[in-house]
Amino acid sequence: MDDSRINRTTARRIRVRGQVQGVGFRPFVWQLAQRMGVKGAVWNDAEGVQIFAVGVQLDAFETALQSQAPSLARIDAVETTVEKLGKLPFDFVITSSQGKGNQTGVTPDAATCDACLAEVRDPAQRRYGYAFASCTQCGPRFSILQGMPFDREMTSMARFAMCAACRSEYESPQDRRFHAQPIACPDCGPRLWFEVDGTEISGDAIQLSAQRLKEGAILAIKGLGGFHLACDARNAAAIATLRLRKRRLTKAFALMGTLPVIRRHTDISPKEETLLTDPSAVVVLLDKSREPLPENLAPGLATLGWILPYTPLHHLLLDAVECPLVMTSGNSSGEPQAIGNPEAREKLRDIADAYLMHDRDIVQRLDDSVEGLTQHGRMVLRRGRGRVPATLPLPPGFEDAPQVVAYGGQIKSAFCLLKSGKALLSHHLGDLDDPQAWDRFQKDVTSYSRLFDHHPSVVACDLHRDLRTSQLAAAQAGDMPLVEVQHHHAHLAACLAENRWPLDAGPVAGIILDGLGLGADGTIWGGEVLVGDYLGFRRAAALAAAPLAGGDAAQREPWRNAVMRLDQAGLADLADTLFSDWPRNLLRQVATSGINAPLSSSAGRLFDAMAACLGLATDRQSYEGEAAMRLQALAQRAPDAFGTPYPFAYREGVLDPIPMFQSWAYDHSNGVPAEVGAARFHAGLAQAFAGAARTEVEAGRAKAVALSGGCFQNATLLDMVLRYLRDIPVLIHTRIPANDGGLALGQAVIAAAGSIRGG
Ligand SMILES: [Zn+2]
Ligand SMILES: [Zn+2]
Repeated sequence: MDDSRINRTTARRIRVRGQVQGVGFRPFVWQLAQRMGVKGAVWNDAEGVQIFAVGVQLDAFETALQSQAPSLARIDAVETTVEKLGKLPFDFVITSSQGKGNQTGVTPDAATCDACLAEVRDPAQRRYGYAFASCTQCGPRFSILQGMPFDREMTSMARFAMCAACRSEYESPQDRRFHAQPIACPDCGPRLWFEVDGTEISGDAIQLSAQRLKEGAILAIKGLGGFHLACDARNAAAIATLRLRKRRLTKAFALMGTLPVIRRHTDISPKEETLLTDPSAVVVLLDKSREPLPENLAPGLATLGWILPYTPLHHLLLDAVECPLVMTSGNSSGEPQAIGNPEAREKLRDIADAYLMHDRDIVQRLDDSVEGLTQHGRMVLRRGRGRVPATLPLPPGFEDAPQVVAYGGQIKSAFCLLKSGKALLSHHLGDLDDPQAWDRFQKDVTSYSRLFDHHPSVVACDLHRDLRTSQLAAAQAGDMPLVEVQHHHAHLAACLAENRWPLDAGPVAGIILDGLGLGADGTIWGGEVLVGDYLGFRRAAALAAAPLAGGDAAQREPWRNAVMRLDQAGLADLADTLFSDWPRNLLRQVATSGINAPLSSSAGRLFDAMAACLGLATDRQSYEGEAAMRLQALAQRAPDAFGTPYPFAYREGVLDPIPMFQSWAYDHSNGVPAEVGAARFHAGLAQAFAGAARTEVEAGRAKAVALSGGCFQNATLLDMVLRYLRDIPVLIHTRIPANDGGLALGQAVIAAAGSIRGG
């Protein structure tokens, strides 16, 4: 550089905030500085990355910092101050981390990058065939993290001492493994082996595994966030055996395949391919549109969940088996998946025929994320590995929010921490009725709080005090304020927060179609139009209530809801004909007595009722949401998916499905195909609720419509509601689940809003 051109305005201190540590950001800055003739230094600190830069092209340098950043980096802000230049630096250097504490994000785990994959497949490279290659652009992050900051000593890689070759890569700023904490090679890193009955079998672990899979065996495979159970996805008998052993009768299995394999079974749109190949490596729901696979992979559903291989281990295995694999979580149905080797040997003993094992410990138990794509964007069904612990920025008005912990719901559990203007929603923690899942939930609240240095001053939970999470919240709150949030208000607020609806932006009309949640009036809600914001709400409309005859049994057994709804519609005779094999009269006595038959406006149970009328999962659902998912799959087969909607009656805030059931009964008696009935049901429900929400907007009582609740995981319903609201601003979920997996975010922002407004 020509030193004469340097003056006091050519030195700057640049602060970069966001997800900028553990993603190769400092070597990227170093290389950029070399190219642009910039002198100075870069280092990590508690708030992110700091750069001291001296040069003549600093504007271009700053632009490039953002436009050319590494793929895993996520920049929230770049702040610059002009510095007085003392002595001119000779060169640009990377200096060691400074300061303690943690304001910066932890990076989620990332799928193997192209460069690492090429090395693993190249016989000339020292990592040829190595299952644990990774670099600053890919590999394990959160799943191996024990504490902050994200340094090797704080990960489960700590016990693997780097060899000289790895050390030199780790220390070289030009290398793509500069400060890559999980760096490893066959000489110094984790090791893979194949095991049967607790004994290691000598030979190539990948080849041995592939051989057994091809023979129809079930393998337990240790992955990134936990163990999977795998079998050949073309082998119906192996799939049936896996179902039996895992005690998972009908719930869909996820599949792993390479892109060419996936393309053989489904048509992938360019957007779906983009989502599949994202470093987050999520399971993507794709239509069963091409060469069929066995029906017992996902009985009665129109989609299959596909994931690409996302670690070198998975790539090597798929290269060797050359077929799609079932890749389902390594557990018995309902329990958390196994992560430790002894734990897996114990828990999966009666399920797996053999094990593909390694000796890198999994620290955070992370299920695969499950997502879909609609024409309206991403749809998150389960948020896990690859998506956590990324944070969401809070909406305007929440800058001074206190630190809040919110405990969420019960069945699709997740908690949420608010801090420094950001929300950290935990990964999916499963159904807390399972004692192991409950134990895990409590431990993870503690470990997240420690990792993210979180010290709440406000605690939030559901209004329903019998939930385990509500009891934990009450116990943890001590002297802190405990905010109990109505379930569907929390759904509404979660949708507002995700869409960064400002604190002062005014009320919206939330269409909340859900399972069950305790209502503000003591009855059970689940099909509502709530008008409000973070600070409060009123119930503007709701589905006409029906008894949940038999209480919990009514959640599991769709026929119960069908009999109640048909009886209400004056169609008891039809109910007797359709459900002659079930004890209808006993059920009616329960409903009349009112004992163990609470009234509910749940839209989820209305789906169950309609599904049972059409003969889907009539007797009982083998997993939550089965009846509704099968009803949706049926509706998609209708020749005109947007056929004439069945009518609902609307009177004084009550949306009554009586005319809907009467119209369906008429169709049924005239031999109209079931798929047409399913489509007309979806359209009717969408039209009724969209109409009620529209009324609120057109009367000036709401500024937009928000859609939330578990039923909005139904892409057909979502699409129809959006069509009816085409000319109105509508907020939907695209980054967090619409179901109870997103509930804690809503609870947290409601508690924060109350605190900010001195409530
Ligand atoms: Zn890589
Ligand atoms: Zn090494």
